[in-house]
Formats: sequence, structure tokens, C-alpha cells
Amino acid sequence: MASIPHLHSLDPVPVRRRLLTWFRRNARALPWRDTRDSYAIWISEVMLQQTQVVTVSPYFERFLQRFPSLAHLAHADEQTVLRLWEGLGYYRRARDLWRSARQLVRDNHATIPDDPAYLGTLPGFGRYTTNAVLSQAYDRSLPILEANSARVLCRLFALAENPKEAATRNQLWRLAESLVPTRLAGAFNQAMMELGALVCTPTGPNCSACPLSRHCLAHLQDRQHEIPMRVKSPRIIAIEEVAVVVRKRGKLLIVQRPDQGRWAKMWEFPHHALEDGESTKAAGLRLLQGLGIEGDVADEFAAIRHSVTRFRITMTCLDVAHRRGVVRAGLHANAAWVRPADLHAYPLSAPQRRLAKRVLAEGW
Ligand code: SF4
Repeated sequence: MASIPHLHSLDPVPVRRRLLTWFRRNARALPWRDTRDSYAIWISEVMLQQTQVVTVSPYFERFLQRFPSLAHLAHADEQTVLRLWEGLGYYRRARDLWRSARQLVRDNHATIPDDPAYLGTLPGFGRYTTNAVLSQAYDRSLPILEANSARVLCRLFALAENPKEAATRNQLWRLAESLVPTRLAGAFNQAMMELGALVCTPTGPNCSACPLSRHCLAHLQDRQHEIPMRVKSPRIIAIEEVAVVVRKRGKLLIVQRPDQGRWAKMWEFPHHALEDGESTKAAGLRLLQGLGIEGDVADEFAAIRHSVTRFRITMTCLDVAHRRGVVRAGLHANAAWVRPADLHAYPLSAPQRRLAKRVLAEGW
């Protein structure tokens, strides 16, 4: 194994002891903290990826109420799972969760087994998820690495690199491996993440309140504000879109996205980006043409603003009365005419749900 810089300068024994003591006293009470149920831990870990703890808590409780066991999730309908996930974003996680649950049940498992090699064959079980679940549920001595713990490790070892780069990540995995204890690995992993969330935060590391300050090389060198290396945020790009809310005899047209790509299998009001110099009305008519229908386009009734990664999208929404034509699903997986009151049953992305609420508020 290649040598790990700075490792020799840090004794893991007191680091583990101090961190675990701090965690016992300071850990937030979270709904997934008091369980060793590997299924519940799995759900929490998947939800927590790229998502804040405060956002996840109510989703976690609702999800477990609806699907209290692996079998319940495996036998659920995919659309129901997506609907329950709605608002959490990164819907691929929900689809992988559901697909893995089905595979696990097909393979005769009642819960998540203590078998890293097998888990690695299932959708969504990368190294992080596998290790997080198995260390917490079965006390397997496996390290984890995610944004919070990566930042703590960079500072602890004064690694002034970009933690998103592959070479740095490999190095960080090795450092995490060097620290994880043989017992209480799950608590230790959670403690690393908790320290990153509460004390060793991205822009305000509170070293005076940190249990690791006497071991931390960044702090000892007074470089905690310059480590890890900051990466320039990508340029923000503005996008103009138009959405059509097509009405026909009290029903509204929605379409289902294909089963690959962003928001796969979710439903939405048809929408697309404006072309250069195109008016919203012209873009709306072009959208209708693509759907194979004609309609009377009234004025815009709402503008929904939202962000997707570095794109700032303004979606102008047009009210359209269907005139003639049968909908061609085209690139979409499906199309349906639904009563406004039934929209709640369909999984929609967050901006589309806002549009649906606006439509209901209009009393259509
Ligand atoms: S001493 Fe400061 S920089 Fe080091 S781990 Fe603690 S909070 Fe982070």
C-alpha cells in the first residue's frame, strides 16, 4: 500500500476515544439513531445522501410507517415509492432502493444481510452505503467517507487537496480506514459525520469546542480555514422554459418521463426550453405540436423558479384549452388526462408539484 502522508503524526487511539466520548454527549437525537435494524439504517443512509438531516427526518418516519419492512417495500408499487420520496430529490436513490428491496426479497432475505460482497451487487450499494449500514447495524469495522467526514479528515491530516478528486478520495478512504476502530465502528462513523455537521463545518470550524483540536494538524498549523482546498463554483446558467397546462373536459394533461435520466418515471406537465429569441407563446405552440394536439393558448398564469445544479430555471406556465388531436407520448413513457383532484396520486418533481398546487388554487 502507498504511504499515507501525515499518518505517522496522528495516534488513532486517543482520537477514537475522544470522538466517541464527544459523540455520546453531543449526538443529536435522530429517529434512526436508536436502532440496529439494518433495513431502517439503510433507508436513513440513502435518504441522507446529499440531503440535510432536518429535511430527512419527517420523510424517514413517513417511509418507515408506510413500508415497515423490506418485504413491504419490495411489494410496493414503484410509483408509490416515488410519490413518498417526492421533495427529497435525487429520485434515482428511491428507484434503486426499491429495485434492491425486490432483489433482496427474491434472494430470500428478510432484511439487509451482513454481506458486503453480496450488497455490492445491488443497485445503489456503493462503498459508502454498504459500509455505513454494516458498521451501524452489525458493528463491522468498515470506514465511511462522505462530505462531512471527508472535510474532517482533510483538516485532521492537513490534507490541502480537493476532496472531490479521485486521487484525494482514495487517500481519504485510506485515512478513514486507518482510524475506524474494530469495535463501535458504527458509532465512530456517525461521530465523524456529526463532528463535521456540528463543529468542523465548511466555513466556521469551531476548534475551541472540538474534541480533536489537540490532534488536528490543520488546527495546530492554524490552517483550518484554508483546508480542504476550495473549488470554484461553476458558472450559473439561466434557462427559460415554458410549461403547458392543457385542459379538456375538466381534466388536465400530464406526461410521464422515460425510465432513464433525471426525474425518471416521474409525471409532469409538458414543458421544454425556449429557443433563442422565441416567445413563450411560440414555445408553447411548438410544445403542443410535438404532442400532436392543438389548443387555444391563453396568457401565462404563473412563473415557477427553481434550480437544478448550476441551472436557474424560470418556467413560464400557460393555460391551454384543448381543441383537437390525440396526444402522442413521443419521448415520454406515457400520457394521461387526470382530474385536478387526482394529481396528488402522481409523483411530481418539486417545481412540478408547485405548479400542480397553483393549478388547484386556480380552481381548475
Ligand atoms: S480542530 Fe478545528 S479543524 Fe480540526 S477537526 Fe476540530 S474543528 Fe475541525
